[in-house]
This record gives sequence, structure tokens and C-alpha cells, in this order.
Amino acid sequence: MVTAEARREELKALYTQARGCTRCPQLAATRTQVVFGAGNANADLMFVGEAPGAREDERGLPFVGAAGKLLEELLAGVGLRREDVFIANVLKCRPPGNRDPAPIEISNCQDYLFRQVDLIRPKVICTLGNFSTKLLRGDPTGITRLHGRREARIVGTRPVWLYPIHHPAAALYTRSLQDTLREDFARLPGILAGPAPEQPVLEPVAAAPPDLVEGRPAATDDPGDAPGAEQLGLF
Ligand code: URA
Repeated sequence: MVTAEARREELKALYTQARGCTRCPQLAATRTQVVFGAGNANADLMFVGEAPGAREDERGLPFVGAAGKLLEELLAGVGLRREDVFIANVLKCRPPGNRDPAPIEISNCQDYLFRQVDLIRPKVICTLGNFSTKLLRGDPTGITRLHGRREARIVGTRPVWLYPIHHPAAALYTRSLQDTLREDFARLPGILAGPAPEQPVLEPVAAAPPDLVEGRPAATDDPGDAPGAEQLGLF
């Protein structure tokens, strides 16, 4: 049996690998640092956002700007703190000017996310907005149709409850979405307290279609320096 401590060590090794990543040459050249994700390495609940913004790129932590403040408020509303959960993104590097992630970048980066899921073993993955929802469902259906309903899925190698909700940044722009987000958040404790998913309804999603993966540059072997304490401090 693989202990939680061994999985946490592997997560740290994955972070060491990711922080030297050059799979996306533009993002590697423009980022301040890789934003790997942070929180409880053995969390039952994992959040997956889109990509780091300027504040996240500066600090090396996910969701530390305005959207992060709203996420923390929503967590507090259901009795959780950010250190109880694990927060990650589809992309680990900031797209310049906060542009949308490009398909090739999502394809390049997705192995890190699937490996994070394998190591953390969450019971529930809450996807925030369209990018993470589409990636983890392997389907282009948008968040407006899907939010607030849990689904049994296999992500990477793990059966999880996938629970898509709106991205907090979207709710900052469109105030009416905040009520929807609060209502969707209010269902999280019940999902967490309920049974683990047994029978995923669809095939596993673990890799982008081959046409997206073709031409992908090899990952760097440079492991970088030892993990920075501030980025791993919440594990
Ligand atoms: N938006 C995201 O999707 N992720 C972050 O880390 C911050 C804002």
C-alpha cells in the first residue's frame, strides 16, 4: 500500500520536475515561476482552475488574486479553508496578458494535472469554469449546461466525483453568477460526506487526442532546484 507520506514525496518530486519545464517555450520564457498548485497533498477535495494570472505568477501560488479571495469566501461558507483542499490549474504557467490557454499548451501540461490527481487521490474534483471542465470530461460541453451536477468519472487513473462549477473570476464580472456559485458550493459538503463513486459512466480521460499531442517537444530533464518552501508549505 502506498502511504499518504510516500504520495506527498512523489508530489514534491513532480513539482521539482515541473518547475524546470520547457514544454511550452513561450510560457517558459515569459513566466516568473511555475505555479504548481498548493494545499493538502491528501485532500478529499481538489479544485482545478484555468491558469495562473499576474498575482499567481508573482507569488508562485494559485488563486491569490481577486478570484482567489472569492474562492476563499466560498470555501469558508461551507466550513473549509484553502489548506484543507488542493488547488491546481490546467496550466502551470501564466499565459502572457492572461490570454486563454492554447490547445497545445493544455496538451503539453495535462500530464502534470493527471499525475497530481493520481497522487492526491481526491474523492471530489471541482472544476472551475470551462477549461478544466472540458479537459477533465474530455468533451466540449460548456459550464453553463453542466454546473452544479456531480458526475462519476475516471480522471487519470482515479474514479472521482467530478463537480463542475463556474469560475470565481466569471462571477466577479457577472454578479448574478455569485448566487449560482454559492448554491453550487452549498452542495459540496453533501457530496464529500456521501459515498465514493463506484461506476464511472464513461471511458477514462487521460490524454488529449493524438492530433493535439503530435509535435509536442520532449520534457526537459532538468529537475531545477529543490522545491521552494513557500510553494510547498501548505502541503
Ligand atoms: N484563475 C485561475 O484559473 N487560476 C488561478 O490560479 C488564478 C486565477
